[in-house]
Amino acid sequence: MQNCLFCKIVRGEIPADKVYEDERVMAFLDINPQAPVHLLVIPRRHLVCLADATAEDAALLGHIQCVIAELAHTHGFADAGFRVVNNCNEDGGQEVEHIHYHVLAGRRMQWPPG
Ligand code: AMP
Ligand code: ZN
Repeated sequence: MQNCLFCKIVRGEIPADKVYEDERVMAFLDINPQAPVHLLVIPRRHLVCLADATAEDAALLGHIQCVIAELAHTHGFADAGFRVVNNCNEDGGQEVEHIHYHVLAGRRMQWPPG
């Protein structure tokens, strides 16, 4: 998508602090961290939000979870724990309309979320 912020990061038109990339997925630091560790994991392919996912996206979305698990181990927060957040559409608080998974770690999370 031409004007999508995260597509621009995928294309290298906007810089990001990348922590992981493969042929399907990228992960980078959130520019406005809400925890000591705040990563964003996105598919390279533009998909607006989880509500748009179909069975064809199952492998990609499963792969994203496996990448998150790998990042949790390589970044050393797997044992202490972490939270994965996907905001979808307006009530979900989604601001960037390219599906992304927040990975938050390094502090104790609260429940319920705000
Ligand atoms: P959401 O509210 O779920 O759509 O989250 C969007 C996230 O993208 C927010 O946590 C922002 O801080 C983050 N963000 C916005 N622009 C950038 C950027 N250029 N690089 C990294 N993270 C960004
Ligand atoms: Zn996009």
